[in-house]
Amino acid sequence: MSAPDIIVIGGGIAGLSAAAALSKHAKVTVLEAEEQIGFHSSGRSATMVHYALGDRLVRALTLASRPFFEAPPEGFTDVPLGHRMPVLVHAREDEREALDKLDAEISQFAALDRLDAAGVHDMCPLLRDAALHGIADRNGIRLDPHALLQGNLKQLRIGGGELHTGARVAAVERAGGAWTVTSEKGERFSAPTLVNAAGSWADAVAQLAGVRTLGLEPKRRTIITFDAPPGTELERLPFTKTIGDELYFAPESGRLFASPMDEVPSDPCDAQPEEYEVALAAFRMEERTTVEVRQIHSKWAGLRTFTPDRHPAAGFAPDAKGFFWLAGQGGFGLQTSPAMAAIVESLIAGTPWPVDDVEESDLEPGRFLRQPA
Ligand SMILES: Cc1cc2nc3c(=O)[nH]c(=O)nc-3n(C[C@H](O)[C@H](O)[C@H](O)COP(=O)(O)OP(=O)(O)OC[C@H]3O[C@@H](n4cnc5c(N)ncnc54)[C@H](O)[C@@H]3O)c2cc1C
Repeated sequence: MSAPDIIVIGGGIAGLSAAAALSKHAKVTVLEAEEQIGFHSSGRSATMVHYALGDRLVRALTLASRPFFEAPPEGFTDVPLGHRMPVLVHAREDEREALDKLDAEISQFAALDRLDAAGVHDMCPLLRDAALHGIADRNGIRLDPHALLQGNLKQLRIGGGELHTGARVAAVERAGGAWTVTSEKGERFSAPTLVNAAGSWADAVAQLAGVRTLGLEPKRRTIITFDAPPGTELERLPFTKTIGDELYFAPESGRLFASPMDEVPSDPCDAQPEEYEVALAAFRMEERTTVEVRQIHSKWAGLRTFTPDRHPAAGFAPDAKGFFWLAGQGGFGLQTSPAMAAIVESLIAGTPWPVDDVEESDLEPGRFLRQPA
């Protein structure tokens, strides 16, 4: 087996989608600490493609990613990468101004319907009467994260690349124009370029390499699932979100899921749901809807990792040759992954810049390193 040109640390959606794109140009090896891909954030998300989060940059990356989800490249997947799920953002009377503002922002990216109380309740009959105003994006997408991860893995392999699972990187050093990484089991890999796509651990990987960290902040988010009231037409329900970051819910495998949209600071870890946020999810569901959460069927938590400006970081570290950052995908890492992978391809393999509305300087990791360490 010949040595790789590029090592990618992290077998989540960021690492795998970048590796798949880069494998068209170079020999790529992905190292994943866990025994399976997508074990951390990428396997625990709400799997939506929507515009009700982030800002102009995140929305531009999302818009640029949509064609990939709707018409994946030939041979990428045998199953659809997702299905249509409308998105409803609702507001009380006192929240109307905030809804107007969001309407104006999202309208630059998607066609929205403005809804009165009747329209809101027609779209989501579970909401309580206080939901008086709404905006609807009929073209939201609910992704199949398994198909997305597997499709990228397949592309990596078609390009001659490799995935090593159970390969937690424990040491990183640069010598003789190459990065050499050593796994906990003692396997060694060397390549001139190292892509740090280690999700919540990306700063920890930088520390191993002696590279200045970005100040990444992992934040825990919780999801619970429970039964819908008898007779609920689940297949008609939208992804339904409060205008403030309080609650979202949507149909999930014959039930409902809900999140209290918690953002609890956490160390990088195998995040577990805490009792308080689980109870908060059930409480807010009952407060905002007529659903009684009698029994929680399942619950999980995952980390959403943000840079200090909540924009992702993609680019070579200014302080370490060949060390490429791909981190800080926050709560939008799945829905922006095709555009981010194309950006990584452009920055490393020199293909044309793929997203008109996003500049290289918007993403460059050096923006955090100009401040004193
Ligand atoms: C509850 C919740 C809801 C969300 N909803 C959405 C949504 O609706 N839409 C959306 O687009 N996004 C959503 N997200 C965000 C999305 O899940 C993340 O942005 C995305 O998964 C980040 O991908 P990643 O590859 O950077 O991280 P990860 O999936 O965590 O991958 C990083 C990988 O690096 C590996 N790693 C770490 N250290 C090492 C090491 N030393 N050696 C080898 N491997 C290492 C880890 O094991 C891990 O597998 C949500 C997240 C959560 C938690």
